[in-house]
Amino acid sequence: MKALCLLLFLSSTSLLIAQSPGTRNIFIITIDGVRWQEIFTGADTGLIHDPRFVSDTSLLQDVYGGDSPERRREKLLPFFWQVIARKGQLSGNRLYQNKVNVSNFYKISYPGYNEIFTGYADPRPVLNSPKPNNNINVLEYLNTQEEYRGRVAAFCSWDILPYVLNETRNSLPINGGYESVEEADSASVVINQVQKNVQVRNHCRYDALTFVAAKEYIQREHPRVLVLGLGETDEFAHQKKYDLYLQQLTAIDKMISDIWYLVQTDPFYRNNTSFIITTDHGRGRKPTAWYAHNLFVKGSGETWQAMIGAGIPAAGELRENGQIFQKQLAATIAALAGKRFISNHAAAEALVLSGQPLAVVSAGIDTGTDMARK
Ligand SMILES: [Zn+2]
Repeated sequence: MKALCLLLFLSSTSLLIAQSPGTRNIFIITIDGVRWQEIFTGADTGLIHDPRFVSDTSLLQDVYGGDSPERRREKLLPFFWQVIARKGQLSGNRLYQNKVNVSNFYKISYPGYNEIFTGYADPRPVLNSPKPNNNINVLEYLNTQEEYRGRVAAFCSWDILPYVLNETRNSLPINGGYESVEEADSASVVINQVQKNVQVRNHCRYDALTFVAAKEYIQREHPRVLVLGLGETDEFAHQKKYDLYLQQLTAIDKMISDIWYLVQTDPFYRNNTSFIITTDHGRGRKPTAWYAHNLFVKGSGETWQAMIGAGIPAAGELRENGQIFQKQLAATIAALAGKRFISNHAAAEALVLSGQPLAVVSAGIDTGTDMARK
């Protein structure tokens, strides 16, 4: 009888294990300083005809123009609108009063990435400088969990992001700026050779190099949590080059499409991987301010989020009146991993991902958002 009970216990346990979805993989992709306006309405019909911001207005009209926001956004971001909109979901179309905002006061990059990864809109002023972040982030939290230990990595174009994520504290493999990659195979040797030959190096590495380095690492190491931080969109916008800002956005859409394809054709990742795609801040709304962003420029706190994959309902473009916040992502990333984010500071609640995910748990104090400041 005892043996029978044990047998029953064992079989029911193995049944549970067989039914459990297994450890989920989570990829977080950030695209620096991309406005919700381009995500949801495509190329701005005013800006693409403005010779102050575009070198060849008629050519840009051919490539990105269109009669409707739907047509223009699909030209600009085919993966977002042909795949994510059907199999995932997109938040932040303010034309439907569907809002995503940052909660930090500053509306620049360091505070934005801090908010995404720590769930905390730190009120202390941190300019975009190489200062190690005191706030514990969700990546290092997941790295303390058995299923994720040693399986967390980040590749980012911006050389300050490793400080936001405090790689000196957590020793995670975080590769930023023109930092060499580990020469673990012939491809990474070539990547380093190319990087050394880049003549003009600023704070932001070419996104194409960040992408290739991340892609090689994914195939070789199979990380369970991966950050891909892309940055040239913000660079081109600050240079007031709207044409190059759009081109880079399309290039990044293709990079995300390629990584999604890679993931969905790899048995390790297939149907067990979630993508979260977002930005660190918005930019100005007006034609005279689209290129700028900070606490004085209206619209800089307005952002967006896109998600696809395991655990993400296929709700498409969300058109409900609602409000979510950037700081909810840290706990959401942990929740997708089946964990509760524990840190050394207060963190906002995870998003409630249902078919209608804008029904949100209280988001805590939201000082400094555009909403609160109105
Ligand atoms: Zn930024």
